[in-house]
Amino acid sequence: MPLLSVQDLKIHFPVRGGWLGRATDVIKAVDKVSFEVEEGSTVGLVGESGSGKSTVARALLKLIPATEGTVTYAGRDILAMSEKEFRPLRKEMQMVFQDPIGSLNPRMTVESILAEPQEIHFKEKTREERRDVSVALLKKVGLPEDALQRYPHEFSGGQRQRIGIARALAVRPKFLICDEPVSALDVSVQAQILNLLKDIQQEFNLTLLFIAHDLAVVRHMSDRIVVMHHGKIVEQGPADQVCEHPRHDYTQRLLDAVPVLM
Ligand code: ADP
Ligand code: MG
Repeated sequence: MPLLSVQDLKIHFPVRGGWLGRATDVIKAVDKVSFEVEEGSTVGLVGESGSGKSTVARALLKLIPATEGTVTYAGRDILAMSEKEFRPLRKEMQMVFQDPIGSLNPRMTVESILAEPQEIHFKEKTREERRDVSVALLKKVGLPEDALQRYPHEFSGGQRQRIGIARALAVRPKFLICDEPVSALDVSVQAQILNLLKDIQQEFNLTLLFIAHDLAVVRHMSDRIVVMHHGKIVEQGPADQVCEHPRHDYTQRLLDAVPVLM
């Protein structure tokens, strides 16, 4: 049984512009999307900007409602769950965002940023215990202990993404959604963060949904690749197969957009 199974997921947004703000049309941001993620594996979700990738990610974490379809996590239908029922799974399913500066509160020290999810999910721990966890997390993501007293703006983009990853790991998730985690970073830093994610996945036996618009990056990370275009899946399969024998023109176009390193 796969850890995550998405069946015929549809997410439509109303376009309001009619009389008294009535919906005049819908944007089919996600249109009948189905895929599965095996436990311990990485599935890459690729497609150009606006293809619906982040909308899928948000629906998986119940941050937005789905219009139709089923999402099963560890055999349980999560779209049917109330927020209360879903709370324990909120801990298991964590997200790493594209823009670490936008997702890290600028007025919080790194210590508070790393303590916050622990306060929510490990209420029984003392402040010292949380701090020890935070120090271990910083070490894990390659940052020094004295980072705890500093603020997000004092770090480089790559370091901030390391903090974002540490925060996601703070509650010991099983399933990590990484939404364009290196797209805002310099090319020279991207590989370091990708390799960090790979190491962490191995060490914690994480299951990953890795989202990016860059097929080379997705291939580097993924066992399987799902290609999205205008809200639909145009192709999916093992990473090597999709990249070496693309069956869809759109996948070929994404491959053609990958810079060739000489
Ligand atoms: P991607 O992550 O692949 O770049 P998104 O999932 O962010 O794409 O967006 C897919 C489509 O859905 C886009 O056309 C976007 O404008 C639209 N969209 C996303 N969120 C909303 C929303 N809350 N309301 C209306 N349209 C939205
Ligand atoms: Mg996106």
